[in-house]
Amino acid sequence: MKAAVIYEHGGLDQVKIDDVPKPVFAEDEVLVKVLSAGLNHLDIWVRHGRGDLKLPKPHILGSDACGVIVAAGKSVKNVRVGDEVVLNPGLSCGKCENCKHGQESECVSFGILGLTRPGTFAEMVAIPAQNLLPKPSHLNFDEAGALMLSFVTAWRMLMTKAKLQPSQKVLIHGIGGGVALCALQLAKLTEAEVIATSSSDEKLQRAARIGADHLINYKKVSDVAKRIKDITAGFGVDIVIDTVGAAAWPIDFSAVRKGGKIVLCGVTTGAEAQTNLRALYWNQLTVMGSTMGSNDDCRQMLKAVEAAKLKSIIDSVLPLENAREAMGKMETGKQFGKIVLSVSG
Ligand SMILES: [Zn+2]
Repeated sequence: MKAAVIYEHGGLDQVKIDDVPKPVFAEDEVLVKVLSAGLNHLDIWVRHGRGDLKLPKPHILGSDACGVIVAAGKSVKNVRVGDEVVLNPGLSCGKCENCKHGQESECVSFGILGLTRPGTFAEMVAIPAQNLLPKPSHLNFDEAGALMLSFVTAWRMLMTKAKLQPSQKVLIHGIGGGVALCALQLAKLTEAEVIATSSSDEKLQRAARIGADHLINYKKVSDVAKRIKDITAGFGVDIVIDTVGAAAWPIDFSAVRKGGKIVLCGVTTGAEAQTNLRALYWNQLTVMGSTMGSNDDCRQMLKAVEAAKLKSIIDSVLPLENAREAMGKMETGKQFGKIVLSVSG
């Protein structure tokens, strides 16, 4: 079958379209014919092989997908051949204490499709049947293929961790990124007031059309934290959704109100940052890290997305053959929303 693979870690030129063997699937797994597969920053991280990542090669990239089940293992009961599904890319053991308590994304051996096993940028992918959820009927295949990772990450950050309430004020950095846009949509669904930041006026204007209430171009504003304080009458925001890390970290601590919450899910601008411990305790802040979501987060998020008919915001759709170009586009950071590979659709 055709797949976007890497034989070595490194730059974009490592991404090859190749013929690889069809994946084998275990008794409790299914084989999914991939129709579309959304890109995530994780794909870049995996390609670069940051840290001590050691993967069998060739490795198939990609974590998100929408597809149709074409074969199922003997013990699979929850889905059937022919079902249209979306994939929860989070892989958990189901046996450790955290899994037993329903916190699958905190599993002691947590893995991710496309990171710890072959991914979705391929004509077929094998995945545990427990990771499948029905494709929301209001979404086309491209929208569905870009849905899960970004939306469940945003859901866990805003709803499960920060427990967002109507009329609260939320700061979202780097609007245009997948998780940031999902957070904007979920925050507006909850009738929160959103301050969005970006270096691009065009992205900010598009965010305004989705519902962002206040826009800050951080390239044009000398003191972003002061601007946020001005917008909130000196009070600060209730919740900060930080998907970018180091560059935003000092602003997070200045912009959040006393007793407020900072939730971090990514470090695209750097993983090392200084923390003002005095601000942390004196202002009684809650700082939380968040990674993807539990099975319950996935179910709740899908229910909310279906009820409100929310859609993944799509920047562009390219054929699988153009996986390298698609990843290159994401690395420039110029996209607004998800870049999707159309596979067998
Ligand atoms: Zn576990």
